[in-house]
Amino acid sequence: MKKQSVPELFGSMVFDDREMRARLSADVYRSLRKTIDENADLEESIADAVAEEMRDWAVERGATHFTHWFQPLTGVTAEKHDSFITPSPDGGVIMEFSGKELIKGEPDASSFPSGGLRATFEARGYTAWDPTSYAFIKDHTLCIPTAFCSYAGDALDKKTPLLRSMEALNRQAKRVLKLFGKEVKYVRTSVGPEQEYFLIDRKMFEKRPDLVYTGRTLFGAMPPKGQELDDHYFGAIKPRVIAFMEELNEELWKLGILAKTEHNEVAPAQHELAPIYATTNAATDSNQLTMEIMQKVASKHGLACLLHEKPFAGVNGSGKHNNWSMATDEGANLLSPGETPHENAQFLLFLCAVIQAVDDYQDLLRLSVATAGNDHRLGANEAPPAIISVFLGDELTGILDAIKNDKPYEGTEKVTMKLGVHSLPRFSRDTTDRNRTSPFAFTGNKFEFRSLGSSNSIACCNIMLNAAVAESLRQYADRLEKAKNFEDELHDLIRETISQHERILFNGNGYGEEWVKEATEVRGLSNLKTTADAMPHLLDPKNMEILMSHKIFSESELHSRCEIMLENYCKSVNIEGHTMVDMVRKNYLPAIEENLYSLAKTTSLMKSVSEHVKCNYEITTMERLSELTDVILEKTEALEEALEALKECTDIIGTSEAVRDHVLPKMEDLRKYVDEAEMLSSEKYWPFPSYGKLLFSVY
Ligand code: ADP
Ligand code: MG
Repeated sequence: MKKQSVPELFGSMVFDDREMRARLSADVYRSLRKTIDENADLEESIADAVAEEMRDWAVERGATHFTHWFQPLTGVTAEKHDSFITPSPDGGVIMEFSGKELIKGEPDASSFPSGGLRATFEARGYTAWDPTSYAFIKDHTLCIPTAFCSYAGDALDKKTPLLRSMEALNRQAKRVLKLFGKEVKYVRTSVGPEQEYFLIDRKMFEKRPDLVYTGRTLFGAMPPKGQELDDHYFGAIKPRVIAFMEELNEELWKLGILAKTEHNEVAPAQHELAPIYATTNAATDSNQLTMEIMQKVASKHGLACLLHEKPFAGVNGSGKHNNWSMATDEGANLLSPGETPHENAQFLLFLCAVIQAVDDYQDLLRLSVATAGNDHRLGANEAPPAIISVFLGDELTGILDAIKNDKPYEGTEKVTMKLGVHSLPRFSRDTTDRNRTSPFAFTGNKFEFRSLGSSNSIACCNIMLNAAVAESLRQYADRLEKAKNFEDELHDLIRETISQHERILFNGNGYGEEWVKEATEVRGLSNLKTTADAMPHLLDPKNMEILMSHKIFSESELHSRCEIMLENYCKSVNIEGHTMVDMVRKNYLPAIEENLYSLAKTTSLMKSVSEHVKCNYEITTMERLSELTDVILEKTEALEEALEALKECTDIIGTSEAVRDHVLPKMEDLRKYVDEAEMLSSEKYWPFPSYGKLLFSVY
C-alpha cells in the first residue's frame, strides 16, 4: 500500500469539522455547529443523525466498538468499550449506534475516586458528550470525549470543571470586550503544552521494580557521566529514538494532534514534544492522548517512556509548559500587543487581568500542579521554585512602571512613545526577553506556565488560571460598566492594578536563594513547598468563593477534590515506601550479603595460602559493607514503622503531613546508604541495572 502523505494522514481518525461538513445534512451540520460554538442545546433528532453518520464513518475505518472516553480524577483517561453489534431478526447482526448512546453513557464506574461525592448522592455516575472535542478512533474503537458526573450533577472528572472555567472566562471577557466596542461570539482560551519525557530501554525498565511500580527510581548511585557536558540538549537524535518519534508523530497526526517540534532535552535520554496550540479543552484531550500513545509506541520499539516528573535523582526531571492565551472567535489574540494606542489599552487591560489573577490566586496555581512527583522537581535546580511570580521582560515592565508613575516611558530605542489614549504607550512586541527560571512568563503574545509536572493533566492548572482571570475580568467589567468616562476609568484601573500587584512581577533569577528570601520575606509571596502544604488552600474561603461564584465547582466538589488530591499524594508515597522496603529486603540486602560472603571467603582463603597478603581491598570493603547492611536494616525498619504509623492517622490532612514529615525523609535517608553500598559493590552482585545503564542504553 502506498504510504499516505501527511495531509492525507492528518486527522484521518477524527470525526472533525471536515467530516461533519461532508457527511451531515446542511441542517444537522448547522445545529451541531451551534451547539459546538454557542453551547446551544442539541435536539434528539439531530443527535440521532450525527450518531448514524459517526457510526458509518467509524465502521468504514474498521471500528467495531464505541466508548465514552473520560478523565476521572485518577489523572489518566478511562474508557469502557461497547460493541456496535445488535442482533438482527435473521440471526445476524447489524451495527447500531443511537443518538442516546452518543449523548449519554452510564459506565458502572463506581470505583473511581469521588471523595465521598457518590457515597452521599448516587452510587453510579454518568458520562455526557462534549461536542466541542471531536470524536476519534483508537484501537478499533470510536472514542467519544465525555464529561463524567454523578447523578446529582457533581463533577467527577477534570473536563467538567475545565469546560465550566472556560465558560466563566468567556462570560467575563465578552463583557470587557463589549466596553471596547467589540461584540464577539465567544472568547476561548488556547493552550500549547510542551511535553517532556524520558525514553529508556524496556528490558532495563522491566528489571527495576521501582520504575514499574512507581514510575521513578527509588535507589541508584550517580553514574560517572550525567548531564554535565550538556551534550544531549538539542543534540543529534539517536536512530532508535528517531524511529520512535516518526511512528509517534504518525499516530498523533492520525488523531488530529498537531505534533510539531521534537528535540533532545537537557538530561541524557530526555526528549520533548510540542504540539501546535489548540482550544484548551481539545488541547487537554490531545495531551492525555499524547501521553498514552507515547507509552504505547515506546513499548512497540522496545522502549519505555517515563512520564514521571523525577525519574532519576541528580538528573533533571521532566515538566510540561502550559502556553496559554485568550482569543475571540475571529481569531484575535487578546494577549497580543496591538498596533494602535486603543488596541494597546485593551491589551494592557487583559495583561493586568492575568497579573492580578496570578497574584491573587498564587496558591490556586501552585496547588493545581501539586503532586508527589512534582514536589521533587519544583525548587530544585532545574524547574521554577514553588513560589509563583510573573516575568514580563524589561520592556513591558518599563512600560507598566511608566504608567504607574505617570511618567513618559523611556525604553530602548526600538520603542516609540505614543501618547494617544491617556498615555498608554505603544511598544514593539518582539523585544520580550527569555527567562527560563520564571514559573509564569510572558512570551510576546501568550503566557507560559512552567511549573507543571510532566505527568500532570493540563486540565487542573487551566481550570485555576481561567477561574482567576475570569475573576479579574469580572471586577474590571463591573467597574468599567459603571464608569462615567470609560477612558479615564480605564486608565485609573490599569494604574491601580499595577501598583497593587507589582509584587508578583519578577524578572530576575528564580532559581537563586536570594529570590526565596526576597519573595517570602519582603514581598510576602507564598512558598508552598509540598503537596501537603499547598492542597489544603483549595478550601481557603477566598478560593472557594471565586470557584463557586463563577460556578466552576460546588462546595461539595471542592471538598471532594481536596480530599482526592491529598489521598493521591499519600497513596503514591505509600506505594513508593513499600516498594523500597520490598527491594531492600528481597534484593539489596541479600545481594550485599553475597558480596560480603565472596569477600570474606576470598580473604580467608588468601590468608590461608600466604601470611604476607594484606587483603586491604577485601577487608576495608567488607567492613564498610557490613556496617552498611546494619544501617540499611535499621533505616528500613524506621521506614516500615513510619508507614505503619500512617494507618493510625484518621484524617487526610494529618496523613499527608505524616507522609511529608516522616515517610519521605526516611525514604531519602534509607536511599543514601543503599546508594553508597552500590558504589562499593561488585556489579556482578548488584541486583538492578545502574543509572548508567538506564540512561545510556538507547542508541
Ligand atoms: P519554547 O520551547 O521556546 O517555549 P515552543 O515552540 O517549543 O517554544 O512551544 C511554544 C508553544 O506555544 C507551542 O505549543 C505553540 O503552539 C504555543 N503557542 C503559540 N501561540 C499560542 C497561543 N496564542 N496560545 C497558546 N499557545 C500558543
Ligand atoms: Mg516553552
